[in-house]
Order: sequence, then C-alpha cells, then structure tokens
Amino acid sequence: MTVAFISDLHLCAERPAMTALLRAFVQRRFNPGDTLYILGDLFEAWLGDDAVLPDQRPVLGALHAAAGRGVTLFFMHGNRDFLTGASFAAQSGCRLLADPAVVELGGERALLMHGDTLCIDDHEYQAYRARVRSPEFRAHVLSLPLDERIALAGHYRSESARLSRDKPPEIMDVNQGAVETAMRAHGVRRLIHGHTHRQAVHDFAFDGAPAQRIVLGDWYHEGSVLEYADGRYRLSNFGPDDPAAPAARTAEDHQP
Ligand code: MN
Repeated sequence: MTVAFISDLHLCAERPAMTALLRAFVQRRFNPGDTLYILGDLFEAWLGDDAVLPDQRPVLGALHAAAGRGVTLFFMHGNRDFLTGASFAAQSGCRLLADPAVVELGGERALLMHGDTLCIDDHEYQAYRARVRSPEFRAHVLSLPLDERIALAGHYRSESARLSRDKPPEIMDVNQGAVETAMRAHGVRRLIHGHTHRQAVHDFAFDGAPAQRIVLGDWYHEGSVLEYADGRYRLSNFGPDDPAAPAARTAEDHQP
C-alpha cells in the first residue's frame, strides 16, 4: 500500500502536458487501498466551485475515478486554490483536509501543511493572505460573474509576480523558527509541505532531537512525488514517459 504526497502542480490551460501527466499518474500509479494527499496549489487558479474551467474538468474526473476504484484522496488547499469547497470535494472525490493536519504513518506522526503560513518573513505576502482569506473577500469573489473573477485572478497573479520579483530568495522561503514552532505545537519530528517549490529533504535538530522537513516539488516541467511505503519515504521526479514509476532521479531514502 502506497501513501503519496504531491503539491504545487499549478495545473492550467497553458501547461496541458502537466494536466495529462497528472491524469496518467492518478490512473496508473495507484491501486485500491492506496492514498494520495494533495497539499495545495493543484490548480494555478480556482475561481470557485461553480466556475470550473474546461481544462480543469478532466482533472476532477481523473481524481473522481480513482476515488471510485478505492483510492483514498485528501485535498488541502493552497494559496492558489483556497476557494475550493464542498462541491469541489464532491466533484473530485477528495476529502478536504484542514491546514495544518497531522497524519500517522507507521506509528509516527507527520505534520502536513501547504507551507505558505511558514513564510512569515514575507510580510507583504502575509498581509495579502490575511486580506484574501477573510470571509468577506471570499463572499465578494464568489458573488462576481465569471469574467470578473478571471480578471481578478489575473490581477492578483501579476501583483504577486511584481511583489516577488525584487525579494531576496530567503524572504520567500520558510522561516526556521516558524517550522520548529509548528512542529513543536503538534508534537511531530517530521513536516511535509509544498508552496516554496524548493524540493528537498532537510535533516536538522531542534529541542535536542533529530527532525526532518520534506519539501514537495512543483510540476512545472515534470512530476514530483513523495511516497511512503514500508516505513520509508522516497522523493522522486518523473516525466510523461513513465508516470507509473519513479524516474532515474530518485532520491535516497530519507529518515530523520
Ligand atoms: Mn502555494
């Protein structure tokens, strides 16, 4: 039985190869009894459950079909698809997961997050996040007609690109203190998150014990997946030729 974690696919009409890769990945890599966690930013933009775009429908269909044959799917939204709700869950067959969430694998707890709440050094982003996550903003967006939602999403996308252009890279990464605070609060030694697109396994120590932070990769040019099986985690990349098996760039097994 495989438990897999992915995030930051940023699926959109401009990258149809990645949408095809996700569909093949879901169809061919998972057997009944397997579990897939999607930790946010599955879509480049989600304009509301009532405004599914044509290129997004096949994604929902592939996920729903997997759920139908006994694959358990969990979805935690990211900063791009935070407008997902109950109807998205029904259309995709995913169970919605709060951010953060704790999962127990092999008798060991791991903390799951999208990751943007850990980037506390980026004050501009955190202010923006607080604004758009308010119930008022959510209700406002969902009350707009589709063309206005598309325009608004475009505005926020270019605004976000403008704000991040001149920022030092370390500002846009997670804050180590925030990482340790979150791990301590949830009593875990392992954290799995995405958002920064800095695929890596970080081994470190805090409070006198080893710990591990696994950062999921994005799906801009190839697939990225973290798999847990038989007590081991494996972070790997794969291309369109082989969505069903890890490619040559498989990382070493990582244990804290
Ligand atoms: Mn993100």
